[in-house]
Amino acid sequence: MRSLEGKVVLITGASSGFGEEVAVLFAQEGCKLVLAARRMDRLQALAAKIQDNGGEAIAIPVDVVNLVDIQNMVESTIDLYGQIDILFNNAGIGRVDWFENFSAERDIQMLVHVNLISLMQVTHAVLPHMLKRGEGHIINMSSVAGLIPAPLITTYAASKHGVRAFTDALRREVTPLGITISGIYPGPAKTEFGSHIGKNEAYAATKNIVRSRMTSEYVASRVLDVALRPRRSLIIPWHYRIAFAFEMLFPVMMDWFSYAFSKINHKIK
Ligand code: NDP
Repeated sequence: MRSLEGKVVLITGASSGFGEEVAVLFAQEGCKLVLAARRMDRLQALAAKIQDNGGEAIAIPVDVVNLVDIQNMVESTIDLYGQIDILFNNAGIGRVDWFENFSAERDIQMLVHVNLISLMQVTHAVLPHMLKRGEGHIINMSSVAGLIPAPLITTYAASKHGVRAFTDALRREVTPLGITISGIYPGPAKTEFGSHIGKNEAYAATKNIVRSRMTSEYVASRVLDVALRPRRSLIIPWHYRIAFAFEMLFPVMMDWFSYAFSKINHKIK
């Protein structure tokens, strides 16, 4: 197990949920935290909490769809600390509904931008600094939706599959250069995420399938574990590893389950 003492950790989406919890855990390990998101009040409160407990953290307002914000975030971090040891690419948004109900701009364009394009652009801005030192760890937040495509989360699944492909491709490219790349694939968890994915009739239908949700504290503890004991991927909870194996081995059977779900729940308006 490696020590994280003194490591500089940049976290996108640090204002709530997994990002916020992970920041607290990294701070307890002695890391220097750079907290990025749009809600500055939340970031400042988190930075103050970390500082009150003897840790080191700064808050930077960043909208990840804005390239200038991304560049400022990375330059400010390098100016202040001279390096980035760990990047936790975590900012993300979701939407649960039948595809025809999605808005072309918010639910397709913006969602793919935040979840995939911005994650790649943040990585693109950080990677040269890691390559120069020949070390660094990039932890990308995907989802089980990045392993198993499903009805109602078409765009989200596409974005998170993109994150998986990018994560795996980049790992194959930069591992020989000293950079570690990990993908995180959590199942449903209790965070603010659930409050802005669209609480509609379609979402209600998923309640019969998603019966339990992990806490963000648990997910954060597992992300910290990946930083302490780097590995290529983490799928949590464990039973999604079985579901993913099914998806790989019996995709037609997974199609049938999905058809049955859609046939019962999809009401054309
Ligand atoms: P939250 O909604 O609590 O957190 C999302 C974070 O992303 C917030 O800090 C938000 O900050 C930030 N964010 C969103 N849009 C932007 C933007 N344009 N620019 C900068 N920051 C942005 O949800 P979670 O903690 O649950 O989600 C974190 C990640 O985990 C996401 O990538 C999500 O897809 C993934 N995930 C979540 C699961 C769940 O069930 N909760 C399951 C699997 C994966 P702000 O609004 O202040 O900008």
